[in-house]
Amino acid sequence: MDHHRQLLADNDPEIAAAIGGEEVRQRDGIELIPSENYTYPEVLATLGTVLTNKYAEGYPGRRYYGGQQFTDRIEDIARERARALFRAEHANVQPLSGSAMNQAAYLACLQPGDTVLAMDLSHGGHLTHGAPVSHMGRLFNFVRYKTRHNQQGAIDYDALMATALETRPKLVLCGFSSYPRGLDYGAFRRIADAVGALAMADIAHIGGLVAAGALRNPLDDGFDIVTTTVHKSLRGPRAGLVLCRSAQAKAIDASVFPGLQGGPHMHTIAATAVALRKAAEPAFRDYARQVLANAQALATALLAQGVSLITGGTDNHLLVLHTIDSFGLDGRRAEEALDRIGIAANKQVVPDDPRPPLRPSGLRIGTPAATTRGMGEAEMHRIAGWMVDAMRHPDDAARLSRLADEVRAFCRQFPLPGVTEARAA
Ligand SMILES: *Cc1c(COP(=O)(O)O)cnc(C)c1O
Repeated sequence: MDHHRQLLADNDPEIAAAIGGEEVRQRDGIELIPSENYTYPEVLATLGTVLTNKYAEGYPGRRYYGGQQFTDRIEDIARERARALFRAEHANVQPLSGSAMNQAAYLACLQPGDTVLAMDLSHGGHLTHGAPVSHMGRLFNFVRYKTRHNQQGAIDYDALMATALETRPKLVLCGFSSYPRGLDYGAFRRIADAVGALAMADIAHIGGLVAAGALRNPLDDGFDIVTTTVHKSLRGPRAGLVLCRSAQAKAIDASVFPGLQGGPHMHTIAATAVALRKAAEPAFRDYARQVLANAQALATALLAQGVSLITGGTDNHLLVLHTIDSFGLDGRRAEEALDRIGIAANKQVVPDDPRPPLRPSGLRIGTPAATTRGMGEAEMHRIAGWMVDAMRHPDDAARLSRLADEVRAFCRQFPLPGVTEARAA
């Protein structure tokens, strides 16, 4: 690795300096964006190999190019590890990202104009669940359901059943990127059955927690299709997986390739295999448990300081703070105050937010990345203290600069995985 980095520094100092700067930024800050993580050194090493040179259109044993003796073996191993880890009848490991995995799944089982039930964006759903600005939102008829404000955000499954009977969806979709609670997969399955629809769960955020057995696996409740990213709580390279039952296998494979994509990224698929092997080890179960314990610790510390949390708390790895109610700050100003002390989080719309998306009422935080760095519950209490201090005094430059010094010194006690010594630009 170091030899390659020297080569890059000699040949393209601008890019080498920017990568070095990013290493320092990652080392010296606390990463609380719940979709981010630090991948393994083994994954970084796998991504930088000659596998990136290889075209492998098709699937193992049925490729459109020769020279596949090693790529076939790699993809077979990746598929088998994904199947075993998630108890899936079939796995497709080729989607280039989370967006592509969902597009492939929709296009495998829907015709243009078909109806899909999906969670409202401001209540926790994701852009790829048919947001009007997305191509999928133009192609299919997404009908949105919401969470309940005063029931810890629980979904009203009776109302959802009534909506399903009225709108006759072909697909009942659940999954989220900003919902801090669990879902009743059995209820979704029954609703799908009542109208003859397929049940699909997008577990992009929680894939690692499900793999580790810390959160429930929708496949165990009879879901037809489950999608997950590999780079969030699963701690692998940037990629997506589609897991499904045998009945959907052919349609899913044809939808990924040749339906949606061309040549798969074999360096990424190999790195996915490496991450999946790690996720099957006992240490990964400990990691997932700690991610949840850390989220509880953050929630407890923030609530004790009077911070208002959407749904009142969390059952998973993420929290949504109502920053307008708590500090009189919109999410963007809260994000900026935290950024100035070296804490990365992102602004977030709250359910039925009256404010515009770029100046929303909330902020989203999560624990997968901080937990990977070895931070535990005691550290979460310190982090909550810094956050509240910064958001209460967003215009106090001297205070923010002192907090930033404390955060930087704190971070240097927790090495960045895969980076022995961050090189300043
Ligand atoms: C992150 C995410 C995606 C999209 O993943 P990308 O890799 O960014 O395309 C899809 N669904 C959910 C629920 C997500 O959180």
